[in-house]
Formats: sequence, C-alpha cells, structure tokens
Amino acid sequence: MIELPSKFLDRMKVELGERFENFLASYARPPYKAIRINTLKISVDGFKKISPFALEPVPWENCGFYIDGEKAGKNLYHSAGLYYSQEPSAMSAAPLLNVKPYERVLDMCSAPGGKGTQLAQKMQGKGVIVLNEVDYSRAKILSRNVERLGITNALVTNCSPGEIERYFPEYFDKILVDAPCSGEGMFLKEAAALTEWSPQNVSACAVRQAKILASAKKSLKAGGLLVYSTCTFAPEEDEIQIENFLADNPQFKLLEMHKYLPDEIKGEGHFVALMVKGGESGESAVKPQIASCNKKVETLWRDFEKRNLTVKFENLHLIRNNLYSLPADCPLLPSEREVLRAGVCLGEIKEDRIEPSHSLAMSSECCGAQVFEVDENQAVNYLRGLTLDCPNELKGWALVTCCGHSLGWCKCVNGTAKNHLPKGLRI
Ligand code: SAM
Repeated sequence: MIELPSKFLDRMKVELGERFENFLASYARPPYKAIRINTLKISVDGFKKISPFALEPVPWENCGFYIDGEKAGKNLYHSAGLYYSQEPSAMSAAPLLNVKPYERVLDMCSAPGGKGTQLAQKMQGKGVIVLNEVDYSRAKILSRNVERLGITNALVTNCSPGEIERYFPEYFDKILVDAPCSGEGMFLKEAAALTEWSPQNVSACAVRQAKILASAKKSLKAGGLLVYSTCTFAPEEDEIQIENFLADNPQFKLLEMHKYLPDEIKGEGHFVALMVKGGESGESAVKPQIASCNKKVETLWRDFEKRNLTVKFENLHLIRNNLYSLPADCPLLPSEREVLRAGVCLGEIKEDRIEPSHSLAMSSECCGAQVFEVDENQAVNYLRGLTLDCPNELKGWALVTCCGHSLGWCKCVNGTAKNHLPKGLRI
C-alpha cells in the first residue's frame, strides 16, 4: 500500500471516526479506470458492439463505463475520438449542470478536458462552450483533446480567470469551476499528488479557489447555474469554501452538495456543489464576433470545399494563417494570443493553397468527398505515420477511415496514400 502523509491521515481520522479504517483500506486497491463514450461520434450502443473492453456502467454518467484495469490510451478507437479516458468519480460533476444544446457554457479550469468535453458532448455541437485553461502547455493538450473528440462549438482559450471575467460579464448560462486543488483524491493515481501535499498547500489552494470563484460568479448570468468541484477532501477546499462563498454572495443558493469518498463509491473520490445565481437576467453586454476572412482566402476555401467535402462550412474567420468556421452566435473573441481554437479549424493557408487541418478530419461535421476505408492493420500503420497503398481511383485528399470513423487525411497519388497525420499524434 502507498504511504500516505501522516498529517492527512490524522485529519481524516478525526473527520471520519469509526469509518476511518474502511477509508484507509480503499488505498490498498488499484485505481479504478473508466472511459466516456463520445456520443458526438458514436452512440453508446454502437460503441458497445465494437468495444475492445468489457464495459460496466458508471452509475452517474450514462456514457461512462468502467474498463477493468485495461490500458485505454493506445487504441485505434481512442485515436478516432470515440472515447475519452476519465476517472469515474470525476464524471459526477458535469451532469449536475444538465447542459443542453444552444446554451452558453464555460469550463473555467478545463485542461486536459475531461469535464469540459463531457459538457460539450451534451450540447451536440449547438450553442457555445468556452473551455479555458490558464496554463499554456496544458491548454495545448486540452485543444488536442477537443480536436480528437470532434467538438465543433468550442472556444479554447488561455486566459486567467480575471481575464475571463472581463471578457464575458454575465454571459454564461452555466459555469463549471473544477478547481486546482491539493489532490487528495489523486493519491493512488499520481505520485506528484502525494509528494506535493502539505497542510500549507491545502491552505494555498483554498485561497486560489476563492479567487477563481470570485471571477466565475461575475461571468454567470442571473438565473445561471454554477458547479464547483475538486478531487480533494480537505474541508477548507470543499464545504468550507462553499460556505464562505455563499456567505459572501447571498445572491447564490446551494442546490446540491456531495462529497464522495473512495470507500463508498467505485472511484477515487470527488467533491461537487451546485449553486444557482438569483436575480433577473438582462441582455449580456458581450458583443458578437463578426466572422471575417478576405476574399482571396474565401475563394480558396470554397474551391477546396467544393472539390473535397460534402458539407459546407459557414462563419469563415481567419486567425493568423488558420481558417476557422466559428460557432453560430460566437461571442467576441479574446485576443489572438489567447485563443487556441475557435470552432472548427478548417485548414492552414499556404500562399495560394489550403492545407486541410486534422481538426477538419476529426470534426463531427466533416464529410470527405473521398474516403479511404482501411482495415485494422492498415489503420495502425497509418497511425504510425506510414505511407499506405490505396486504390488507384483515389486522387488527391481523402479521409482515412476505419469502421467508418475518421483517423485523419491522406493525399493519394498513383495508388499511394501519403500520410498527413500530424507528426505529434503518431504512435
Ligand atoms: N477540469 C479538468 C478536467 O476535467 O480534465 C481538470 C482541471 S484541474 C483539476 C485544474 C486546472 O486548473 C489545471 O489544469 C490547472 O492548470 C488550472 N489552474 C491552476 N491554477 C489556476 C488558477 N490560478 N486559475 C485558474 N486555473 C488554474
């Protein structure tokens, strides 16, 4: 069994009393593993038919399933974005917001994207979800996950909570604050959670969390819902944090609060609180983003689209050299530096041609006019970055698919499919 910090154990002993021995015993088992099926790309029943894993339902998320200790990351269907590996108790926060299509949603602390992509999947590509992460390198990982899962209505931003508060005053219907915390629920999963834990760090986290909540509340509309969650058990980061927030903000009411400990659920533990903001909501002061791209780029794109796709993308917007299709009703974007992704990245402008992006291939709305369906062996070779033999009749850009699910682009010339999977994604 792992060695737990003695001050953590002393605190839990006092809090849990007789229950403490059961709680302690839960650290002797391996961590639970689970996946969430990405219904933007496949139905739950459809995935069950092809699943490489035995699946057992996670009770609080209807797309969540335990996978019994298997490795979920290096799988063809993972690369195709059919599922996301997520700690099972972490799946308990997003359902509280009951997110629906056409809403405006914010995930304030979003990387690597477990809960944010869970929220996005409930929106079915409609409405706008801002997935924000303050740490740039983590925001890039988040952005890759958004791409892999084919989410088309997300803005991935790299802002501080204070900047989000300024850019989006009273804009969102629903906000998730999955706060950075002391990670007591991560002790089994991450060695760093153990080495970084200290009572001083618990207190520092509590101060940081209060600041994040203070920003989040200003971006929420009156009548909107706020979920606060952590993967720790320290009262000052959990129930005391919420008590203090409610005392300072009487406009907010607590609707639900749960602390799941690892001896009572099949998961590593989580804290969740759902609150509603009272008052009358007015028009948000946030201006809409006017999509803009110059005539030359638009002509290039429309020509590419006509020859290579079976769907048409609207709201064309150029950020640096990348052409995007912005979500409908997109709010005014933060500065280019702070936006990693805005809707679907269609492609990169390279002088007088367009190089279609991997996001386009993975987008749940993308439909390539040419499709190169491959078997599992060929798919693995494609994911390794190899060139494939392809039918002679395929010419130019084609989507490489396996069981009908896109893996990325290839360019076909004389029976050879040149691999266009981005180098960083190759296995
Ligand atoms: N919601 C994510 C998910 O489900 O995959 C996990 C988020 S993790 C618990 C908390 C995140 O908060 C980290 O990505 C971390 O970089 C970010 N963070 C750290 N300090 C922060 C701060 N002062 N303000 C906002 N976010 C912060």
